[in-house]
Amino acid sequence: MQNNAAIISVGNELLNGNTVDTNSTWLCSRLLSVSIPVVYSCAVGDDIEEIKNAIEYASGKADIILITGGLGPTDDDLTRDGIAKFLGVELEYHPDIFEKIKKFFAVRNYPMPEKNKIQAYLPAGTSEIENDLGTAPGIFYEKDKKIIALFPGVPSEMKQMFDKSILPKLKKLALSEVEGSAQGDILVVRKIRCIGAGESAIAEMLGDLMKRGRNPLINCTVDCGIITLHIIARAGDKNKAAALAQEDIQRLRGILGKLVYGLDEQTLAEVVGKKLLDAKKTLAVAESCTGGLIVKMITDVPGSSRYFTYGWVTYSNESKVSELGVKKELIEKFGAVSSEVAQAMAEGAKRKSGSDFAVAVTGIAGPDGGSEQKPVGLVYISIASPDGINTEKFLFGPRDRDFIRLRASQTLLNLLRLKLDI
Ligand code: AMP
Ligand code: MG
Repeated sequence: MQNNAAIISVGNELLNGNTVDTNSTWLCSRLLSVSIPVVYSCAVGDDIEEIKNAIEYASGKADIILITGGLGPTDDDLTRDGIAKFLGVELEYHPDIFEKIKKFFAVRNYPMPEKNKIQAYLPAGTSEIENDLGTAPGIFYEKDKKIIALFPGVPSEMKQMFDKSILPKLKKLALSEVEGSAQGDILVVRKIRCIGAGESAIAEMLGDLMKRGRNPLINCTVDCGIITLHIIARAGDKNKAAALAQEDIQRLRGILGKLVYGLDEQTLAEVVGKKLLDAKKTLAVAESCTGGLIVKMITDVPGSSRYFTYGWVTYSNESKVSELGVKKELIEKFGAVSSEVAQAMAEGAKRKSGSDFAVAVTGIAGPDGGSEQKPVGLVYISIASPDGINTEKFLFGPRDRDFIRLRASQTLLNLLRLKLDI
Protein backbone atom coordinates (compact mmCIF):
# COMPACT_ATOMS: atom_id res chain seq x y z
CA MET A 1 0.00 0.00 0.00
CA GLN A 2 3.08 2.19 0.21
CA ASN A 3 2.43 5.52 -1.56
CA ASN A 4 -0.77 4.43 -3.22
CA ALA A 5 -3.49 6.99 -3.77
CA ALA A 6 -7.28 6.98 -3.78
CA ILE A 7 -9.59 9.67 -5.11
CA ILE A 8 -13.10 10.49 -3.92
CA SER A 9 -15.24 12.85 -5.97
CA VAL A 10 -18.16 14.30 -4.05
CA GLY A 11 -21.31 15.83 -5.50
CA ASN A 12 -24.86 14.84 -6.43
CA GLU A 13 -24.24 16.39 -9.85
CA LEU A 14 -21.70 13.64 -10.57
CA LEU A 15 -24.29 10.95 -9.93
CA ASN A 16 -27.23 12.42 -11.82
CA GLY A 17 -25.46 12.92 -15.14
CA ASN A 18 -25.14 16.70 -14.92
CA THR A 19 -21.38 16.96 -14.46
CA VAL A 20 -18.62 14.80 -15.88
CA ASP A 21 -16.05 13.96 -13.21
CA THR A 22 -12.98 15.50 -14.80
CA ASN A 23 -11.30 16.17 -11.42
CA SER A 24 -10.44 12.54 -10.81
CA THR A 25 -8.94 11.95 -14.26
CA TRP A 26 -6.84 15.10 -13.90
CA LEU A 27 -5.67 14.04 -10.44
CA CYS A 28 -4.87 10.51 -11.68
CA SER A 29 -2.54 11.81 -14.35
CA ARG A 30 -0.94 14.32 -11.96
CA LEU A 31 -0.29 11.55 -9.40
CA LEU A 32 1.17 9.25 -12.03
CA SER A 33 3.51 12.04 -13.08
CA VAL A 34 5.13 11.68 -9.64
CA SER A 35 4.95 7.88 -9.78
CA ILE A 36 2.07 7.55 -7.33
CA PRO A 37 -0.41 4.99 -8.63
CA VAL A 38 -4.12 5.50 -8.05
CA VAL A 39 -5.59 2.24 -6.81
CA TYR A 40 -9.14 3.37 -6.14
CA SER A 41 -11.48 6.11 -7.27
CA CYS A 42 -15.18 6.66 -6.62
CA ALA A 43 -17.93 9.26 -6.76
CA VAL A 44 -20.39 9.79 -3.92
CA GLY A 45 -23.33 12.10 -3.37
CA ASP A 46 -23.55 15.02 -0.95
CA ASP A 47 -24.30 12.89 2.09
CA ILE A 48 -22.29 12.90 5.34
CA GLU A 49 -22.59 9.15 5.94
CA GLU A 50 -21.69 8.25 2.33
CA ILE A 51 -18.69 10.56 2.42
CA LYS A 52 -17.49 9.11 5.72
CA ASN A 53 -17.93 5.54 4.43
CA ALA A 54 -16.04 6.34 1.23
CA ILE A 55 -13.11 7.78 3.20
CA GLU A 56 -13.11 4.74 5.47
CA TYR A 57 -13.01 2.36 2.51
CA ALA A 58 -10.38 4.38 0.64
CA SER A 59 -8.16 4.54 3.71
CA GLY A 60 -8.04 0.73 3.71
CA LYS A 61 -6.64 0.87 0.19
CA ALA A 62 -4.32 3.86 0.07
CA ASP A 63 -2.07 6.16 2.10
CA ILE A 64 -2.93 9.25 0.12
CA ILE A 65 -6.58 10.19 -0.22
CA LEU A 66 -7.61 13.12 -2.37
CA ILE A 67 -11.18 14.39 -2.15
CA THR A 68 -12.84 17.03 -4.32
CA GLY A 69 -16.20 18.75 -3.99
CA GLY A 70 -18.59 19.70 -1.25
CA LEU A 71 -16.55 22.42 0.49
CA GLY A 72 -18.77 25.26 -0.64
CA PRO A 73 -20.98 27.39 1.66
CA THR A 74 -24.38 25.92 0.78
CA ASP A 75 -26.42 23.33 2.67
CA ASP A 76 -25.54 20.60 0.17
CA ASP A 77 -21.82 21.01 0.83
CA LEU A 78 -21.21 18.32 3.42
CA THR A 79 -17.67 17.09 2.85
CA ARG A 80 -16.39 19.06 5.87
CA ASP A 81 -18.82 17.17 8.08
CA GLY A 82 -18.01 13.86 6.38
CA ILE A 83 -14.29 14.11 7.07
CA ALA A 84 -14.92 15.36 10.64
CA LYS A 85 -17.12 12.32 11.24
CA PHE A 86 -14.47 10.00 9.79
CA LEU A 87 -11.80 11.55 12.04
CA GLY A 88 -14.20 11.55 15.00
CA VAL A 89 -13.64 15.25 15.68
CA GLU A 90 -15.65 18.47 15.79
CA LEU A 91 -15.39 21.40 13.38
CA GLU A 92 -13.33 24.29 14.77
CA TYR A 93 -13.68 27.95 13.90
CA HIS A 94 -10.58 29.68 12.42
CA PRO A 95 -10.86 33.48 12.66
CA ASP A 96 -7.85 33.94 10.34
CA ILE A 97 -9.61 32.00 7.57
CA PHE A 98 -12.77 34.03 8.15
CA GLU A 99 -10.76 37.24 7.70
CA LYS A 100 -9.51 35.95 4.33
CA ILE A 101 -13.04 35.09 3.20
CA LYS A 102 -14.26 38.57 4.24
CA LYS A 103 -11.38 40.10 2.31
CA PHE A 104 -12.22 38.03 -0.77
CA PHE A 105 -15.63 39.73 -0.87
CA ALA A 106 -14.38 43.17 0.17
CA VAL A 107 -11.88 43.50 -2.69
CA ARG A 108 -14.63 42.58 -5.14
CA ASN A 109 -17.04 45.02 -3.51
CA TYR A 110 -19.64 42.33 -2.79
CA PRO A 111 -21.41 41.96 0.55
CA MET A 112 -20.42 38.67 2.18
CA PRO A 113 -23.37 36.30 2.64
CA GLU A 114 -23.62 34.97 6.19
CA LYS A 115 -23.46 31.40 4.83
CA ASN A 116 -19.81 31.78 3.86
CA LYS A 117 -18.79 31.77 7.51
CA ILE A 118 -19.08 27.95 7.53
CA GLN A 119 -16.02 27.85 5.26
CA ALA A 120 -13.91 29.15 8.15
CA TYR A 121 -14.55 25.89 10.02
CA LEU A 122 -12.09 22.98 9.73
CA PRO A 123 -12.17 19.60 11.45
CA ALA A 124 -9.97 19.66 14.60
CA GLY A 125 -6.43 18.47 13.86
CA THR A 126 -6.50 19.53 10.19
CA SER A 127 -5.06 22.60 8.48
CA GLU A 128 -6.04 24.91 5.67
CA ILE A 129 -4.99 24.46 2.03
CA GLU A 130 -5.02 28.01 0.73
CA ASN A 131 -7.34 28.85 -2.14
CA ASP A 132 -6.16 31.92 -4.10
CA LEU A 133 -9.06 31.77 -6.54
CA GLY A 134 -12.17 31.26 -4.40
CA THR A 135 -13.63 31.34 -0.91
CA ALA A 136 -13.52 27.61 -0.12
CA PRO A 137 -10.28 26.68 1.63
CA GLY A 138 -9.04 23.13 1.19
CA ILE A 139 -8.41 20.85 4.16
CA PHE A 140 -5.17 18.99 4.89
CA TYR A 141 -4.71 16.10 7.30
CA GLU A 142 -1.54 14.10 7.90
CA LYS A 143 -0.92 11.40 10.50
CA ASP A 144 1.08 8.18 10.65
CA LYS A 145 2.11 8.35 6.97
CA LYS A 146 -1.51 8.92 5.93
CA ILE A 147 -2.43 12.02 3.98
CA ILE A 148 -5.93 13.25 3.29
CA ALA A 149 -6.31 16.39 1.18
CA LEU A 150 -9.65 17.96 0.34
CA PHE A 151 -10.33 20.49 -2.39
CA PRO A 152 -13.33 22.41 -3.68
CA GLY A 153 -14.97 20.85 -6.75
CA VAL A 154 -14.42 23.78 -9.13
CA PRO A 155 -11.75 22.34 -11.43
CA SER A 156 -9.68 25.53 -11.83
CA GLU A 157 -9.49 26.06 -8.04
CA MET A 158 -8.75 22.41 -7.31
CA LYS A 159 -5.95 22.27 -9.91
CA GLN A 160 -4.27 25.44 -8.68
CA MET A 161 -4.44 24.34 -5.05
CA PHE A 162 -3.19 20.83 -5.77
CA ASP A 163 -0.24 22.02 -7.85
CA LYS A 164 0.74 24.73 -5.39
CA SER A 165 0.26 23.01 -2.03
CA ILE A 166 0.04 19.25 -2.39
CA LEU A 167 2.06 18.20 -5.45
CA PRO A 168 5.39 19.43 -3.97
CA LYS A 169 4.69 17.40 -0.78
CA LEU A 170 3.85 14.30 -2.80
CA LYS A 171 6.93 14.73 -4.98
CA LYS A 172 9.10 14.78 -1.86
CA LEU A 173 7.31 11.77 -0.47
CA ALA A 174 7.76 9.85 -3.72
CA LEU A 175 11.47 10.75 -3.77
CA SER A 176 12.04 9.77 -0.14
CA GLU A 177 10.56 6.37 -0.91
CA VAL A 178 12.94 5.81 -3.81
CA GLU A 179 15.96 5.08 -1.59
CA GLY A 180 14.38 2.22 0.29
CA SER A 181 11.91 1.22 -2.38
CA ALA A 182 11.44 -2.33 -3.52
CA GLN A 183 12.26 -3.06 -7.15
CA GLY A 184 9.32 -1.93 -9.22
CA ASP A 185 7.84 0.77 -7.00
CA ILE A 186 8.36 3.71 -9.32
CA LEU A 187 5.99 4.14 -12.24
CA VAL A 188 6.49 6.01 -15.49
CA VAL A 189 3.64 6.22 -17.98
CA ARG A 190 4.16 7.18 -21.63
CA LYS A 191 1.62 7.22 -24.42
CA ILE A 192 1.85 6.31 -28.10
CA ARG A 193 -0.89 7.82 -30.27
CA CYS A 194 -2.01 5.93 -33.36
CA ILE A 195 -4.56 6.42 -36.12
CA GLY A 196 -5.43 4.40 -39.20
CA ALA A 197 -6.16 0.93 -37.79
CA GLY A 198 -8.61 -0.50 -35.27
CA GLU A 199 -7.89 -1.45 -31.69
CA SER A 200 -7.89 -5.19 -32.35
CA ALA A 201 -5.67 -4.89 -35.45
CA ILE A 202 -3.13 -2.96 -33.38
CA ALA A 203 -3.37 -5.48 -30.53
CA GLU A 204 -2.70 -8.27 -33.02
CA MET A 205 0.36 -6.48 -34.35
CA LEU A 206 1.69 -6.15 -30.79
CA GLY A 207 1.03 -9.80 -29.86
CA ASP A 208 2.71 -10.81 -26.60
CA LEU A 209 3.85 -7.28 -25.88
CA MET A 210 0.34 -6.67 -24.53
CA LYS A 211 0.44 -9.69 -22.22
CA ARG A 212 -0.82 -9.01 -18.68
CA GLY A 213 1.93 -9.01 -16.09
CA ARG A 214 4.58 -7.82 -18.54
CA ASN A 215 6.77 -4.85 -17.54
CA PRO A 216 6.12 -2.38 -19.07
CA LEU A 217 2.44 -3.12 -19.10
CA ILE A 218 0.76 -1.93 -22.30
CA ASN A 219 -2.89 -0.84 -22.10
CA CYS A 220 -4.99 0.34 -24.99
CA THR A 221 -7.77 2.93 -25.17
CA VAL A 222 -9.74 4.19 -28.16
CA ASP A 223 -11.39 7.54 -28.73
CA CYS A 224 -13.04 8.39 -32.01
CA GLY A 225 -10.52 6.63 -34.24
CA ILE A 226 -7.50 7.50 -32.14
CA ILE A 227 -5.87 4.53 -30.45
CA THR A 228 -3.70 5.31 -27.44
CA LEU A 229 -1.22 2.77 -26.14
CA HIS A 230 -0.35 3.46 -22.51
CA ILE A 231 3.08 2.14 -21.62
CA ILE A 232 3.30 1.69 -17.86
CA ALA A 233 6.88 0.96 -16.81
CA ARG A 234 7.90 -0.02 -13.28
CA ALA A 235 11.42 0.05 -11.85
CA GLY A 236 13.37 0.81 -8.69
CA ASP A 237 14.02 4.38 -9.78
CA LYS A 238 12.51 6.91 -12.14
CA ASN A 239 15.37 6.88 -14.67
CA LYS A 240 15.25 3.12 -15.03
CA ALA A 241 11.47 3.17 -15.45
CA ALA A 242 11.76 5.97 -18.03
CA ALA A 243 14.41 4.00 -19.94
CA LEU A 244 12.20 0.89 -19.96
CA ALA A 245 9.29 2.92 -21.32
CA GLN A 246 11.53 4.51 -23.95
CA GLU A 247 12.71 1.09 -25.13
CA ASP A 248 9.09 0.07 -25.62
CA ILE A 249 8.35 3.26 -27.51
CA GLN A 250 11.13 2.39 -29.98
CA ARG A 251 9.93 -1.21 -30.22
CA LEU A 252 6.31 -0.21 -30.84
CA ARG A 253 7.22 2.48 -33.33
CA GLY A 254 9.13 -0.17 -35.27
CA ILE A 255 6.12 -2.47 -35.34
CA LEU A 256 3.41 0.11 -35.96
CA GLY A 257 5.27 2.37 -38.42
CA LYS A 258 3.13 5.15 -39.87
CA LEU A 259 0.15 4.25 -37.70
CA VAL A 260 1.96 6.13 -34.93
CA TYR A 261 1.42 9.86 -35.25
CA GLY A 262 2.71 11.10 -31.92
CA LEU A 263 3.63 10.61 -28.28
CA ASP A 264 2.09 11.56 -24.94
CA GLU A 265 -0.26 14.54 -25.28
CA GLN A 266 0.64 15.43 -28.88
CA THR A 267 -2.35 16.12 -31.13
CA LEU A 268 -2.65 15.38 -34.83
CA ALA A 269 -2.94 19.10 -35.50
CA GLU A 270 0.34 19.72 -33.65
CA VAL A 271 2.11 17.04 -35.67
CA VAL A 272 0.73 18.39 -38.95
CA GLY A 273 1.71 21.92 -37.92
CA LYS A 274 5.27 20.90 -37.15
CA LYS A 275 5.58 19.14 -40.50
CA LEU A 276 4.27 22.21 -42.35
CA LEU A 277 6.65 24.43 -40.43
CA ASP A 278 9.64 22.17 -41.10
CA ALA A 279 8.77 22.03 -44.81
CA LYS A 280 8.08 25.81 -44.83
CA LYS A 281 4.66 25.18 -46.40
CA THR A 282 1.32 26.87 -45.87
CA LEU A 283 -2.19 25.50 -45.48
CA ALA A 284 -5.75 26.61 -46.24
CA VAL A 285 -8.92 24.78 -45.22
CA ALA A 286 -12.40 24.64 -46.78
CA GLU A 287 -15.01 22.98 -44.60
CA SER A 288 -18.61 22.07 -45.04
CA CYS A 289 -19.94 19.34 -42.72
CA THR A 290 -17.29 19.90 -40.02
CA GLY A 291 -18.43 23.53 -39.63
CA GLY A 292 -15.06 24.97 -38.59
CA LEU A 293 -13.88 22.12 -36.37
CA ILE A 294 -10.77 21.48 -38.47
CA VAL A 295 -9.74 25.13 -38.33
CA LYS A 296 -10.40 25.11 -34.58
CA MET A 297 -8.08 22.11 -34.15
CA ILE A 298 -5.37 23.68 -36.31
CA THR A 299 -5.53 27.06 -34.58
CA ASP A 300 -5.61 25.47 -31.11
CA VAL A 301 -1.88 25.00 -31.70
CA PRO A 302 0.13 28.04 -30.57
CA GLY A 303 2.13 29.47 -33.47
CA SER A 304 -0.24 28.11 -36.14
CA SER A 305 -0.28 31.54 -37.81
CA ARG A 306 3.13 30.62 -39.23
CA TYR A 307 1.58 28.07 -41.60
CA PHE A 308 -2.22 28.42 -41.51
CA THR A 309 -3.49 31.02 -43.99
CA TYR A 310 -7.23 30.84 -44.66
CA GLY A 311 -10.30 28.94 -43.52
CA TRP A 312 -13.73 28.83 -45.12
CA VAL A 313 -16.93 27.34 -43.76
CA THR A 314 -18.89 27.04 -46.97
CA TYR A 315 -22.02 25.39 -45.63
CA SER A 316 -24.48 26.37 -48.38
CA ASN A 317 -24.21 25.54 -52.06
CA GLU A 318 -24.15 29.29 -52.84
CA SER A 319 -21.15 29.87 -50.61
CA LYS A 320 -19.24 27.01 -52.21
CA VAL A 321 -19.83 28.72 -55.56
CA SER A 322 -19.25 32.35 -54.52
CA GLU A 323 -16.37 31.84 -52.06
CA LEU A 324 -14.47 28.93 -53.55
CA GLY A 325 -15.45 29.11 -57.21
CA VAL A 326 -17.04 25.65 -57.25
CA LYS A 327 -19.02 25.37 -60.48
CA LYS A 328 -22.79 25.49 -59.93
CA GLU A 329 -23.28 22.78 -62.56
CA LEU A 330 -20.94 20.49 -60.62
CA ILE A 331 -23.14 20.74 -57.52
CA GLU A 332 -26.29 20.27 -59.61
CA LYS A 333 -24.87 17.21 -61.37
CA PHE A 334 -23.11 15.40 -58.49
CA GLY A 335 -24.56 17.00 -55.35
CA ALA A 336 -22.76 19.03 -52.66
CA VAL A 337 -21.59 15.81 -51.02
CA SER A 338 -19.55 14.29 -53.80
CA SER A 339 -15.98 13.58 -54.75
CA GLU A 340 -16.19 16.19 -57.53
CA VAL A 341 -17.34 18.98 -55.20
CA ALA A 342 -14.80 18.08 -52.49
CA GLN A 343 -12.06 18.30 -55.12
CA ALA A 344 -13.37 21.60 -56.49
CA MET A 345 -13.49 23.01 -52.93
CA ALA A 346 -9.85 22.07 -52.33
CA GLU A 347 -8.78 23.45 -55.70
CA GLY A 348 -10.69 26.66 -55.06
CA ALA A 349 -9.20 27.07 -51.58
CA LYS A 350 -5.69 26.52 -52.93
CA ARG A 351 -6.18 28.96 -55.78
CA LYS A 352 -7.85 31.67 -53.68
CA SER A 353 -5.40 31.45 -50.78
CA GLY A 354 -2.23 30.87 -52.76
CA SER A 355 -1.23 28.29 -50.13
CA ASP A 356 0.96 25.26 -50.77
CA PHE A 357 -1.67 22.88 -49.42
CA ALA A 358 -5.44 23.14 -49.29
CA VAL A 359 -7.79 20.61 -47.76
CA ALA A 360 -11.54 20.29 -48.11
CA VAL A 361 -14.29 18.23 -46.54
CA THR A 362 -17.92 17.73 -47.45
CA GLY A 363 -20.26 15.14 -45.98
CA ILE A 364 -23.53 14.24 -44.31
CA ALA A 365 -23.22 14.61 -40.53
CA GLY A 366 -26.88 13.68 -39.89
CA PRO A 367 -29.08 12.84 -38.21
CA ASP A 368 -31.20 13.90 -41.24
CA GLY A 369 -30.28 14.37 -44.86
CA GLY A 370 -29.12 10.83 -45.63
CA SER A 371 -30.41 8.65 -48.46
CA GLU A 372 -29.71 5.16 -49.71
CA GLN A 373 -27.10 6.40 -52.15
CA LYS A 374 -25.71 8.99 -49.74
CA PRO A 375 -26.12 7.74 -46.16
CA VAL A 376 -25.44 9.68 -42.96
CA GLY A 377 -21.70 9.44 -42.34
CA LEU A 378 -20.69 9.71 -46.01
CA VAL A 379 -17.72 12.09 -46.16
CA TYR A 380 -15.39 13.16 -48.96
CA ILE A 381 -11.98 14.55 -48.13
CA SER A 382 -9.76 16.21 -50.69
CA ILE A 383 -6.16 17.31 -50.35
CA ALA A 384 -4.59 19.63 -52.90
CA SER A 385 -0.82 19.64 -52.64
CA PRO A 386 2.00 21.05 -54.78
CA ASP A 387 2.12 17.77 -56.69
CA GLY A 388 -1.55 17.16 -57.39
CA ILE A 389 -4.88 16.48 -55.80
CA ASN A 390 -6.20 13.46 -54.00
CA THR A 391 -9.83 12.84 -53.00
CA GLU A 392 -11.10 9.96 -50.88
CA LYS A 393 -14.51 8.71 -49.84
CA PHE A 394 -15.29 7.58 -46.26
CA LEU A 395 -18.28 6.07 -44.50
CA PHE A 396 -18.21 7.06 -40.84
CA GLY A 397 -21.86 6.24 -40.12
CA PRO A 398 -24.28 5.34 -38.92
CA ARG A 399 -23.11 7.31 -35.90
CA ASP A 400 -24.09 10.54 -34.19
CA ARG A 401 -23.30 13.96 -35.57
CA ASP A 402 -20.45 14.74 -33.14
CA PHE A 403 -18.71 11.46 -33.92
CA ILE A 404 -18.96 11.91 -37.69
CA ARG A 405 -17.65 15.48 -37.58
CA LEU A 406 -14.77 14.62 -35.25
CA ARG A 407 -13.86 11.48 -37.16
CA ALA A 408 -13.90 13.41 -40.46
CA SER A 409 -11.65 16.10 -38.99
CA GLN A 410 -9.16 13.61 -37.51
CA THR A 411 -9.08 11.61 -40.73
CA LEU A 412 -8.40 14.71 -42.80
CA LEU A 413 -5.56 15.77 -40.52
CA ASN A 414 -4.14 12.27 -40.69
CA LEU A 415 -4.25 12.18 -44.51
CA LEU A 416 -2.47 15.51 -44.53
CA ARG A 417 0.15 14.17 -42.08
CA LEU A 418 0.82 11.19 -44.35
CA LYS A 419 0.99 13.46 -47.41
CA LEU A 420 3.55 15.63 -45.65
CA ASP A 421 5.69 12.56 -44.86
CA ILE A 422 6.46 11.98 -48.53
P1 AMP B 1 -18.48 22.13 -5.06
O1 AMP B 1 -17.09 22.40 -4.61
O2 AMP B 1 -18.96 20.77 -4.65
O3 AMP B 1 -19.44 23.19 -4.67
O4 AMP B 1 -18.46 22.07 -6.65
C1 AMP B 1 -18.50 23.24 -7.42
C2 AMP B 1 -18.66 22.93 -8.88
O5 AMP B 1 -17.51 22.24 -9.36
C3 AMP B 1 -19.81 21.97 -9.19
O6 AMP B 1 -21.01 22.66 -9.34
C4 AMP B 1 -19.38 21.33 -10.48
O7 AMP B 1 -19.73 22.16 -11.56
C5 AMP B 1 -17.87 21.32 -10.37
N1 AMP B 1 -17.37 20.01 -9.97
C6 AMP B 1 -17.51 19.42 -8.77
N2 AMP B 1 -16.91 18.20 -8.74
C7 AMP B 1 -16.39 18.01 -9.97
C8 AMP B 1 -15.64 16.96 -10.57
N3 AMP B 1 -15.33 15.84 -9.91
N4 AMP B 1 -15.25 17.11 -11.86
C9 AMP B 1 -15.57 18.23 -12.54
N5 AMP B 1 -16.26 19.26 -12.03
C10 AMP B 1 -16.68 19.17 -10.75
MG1 MG C 1 -21.03 20.26 -4.60
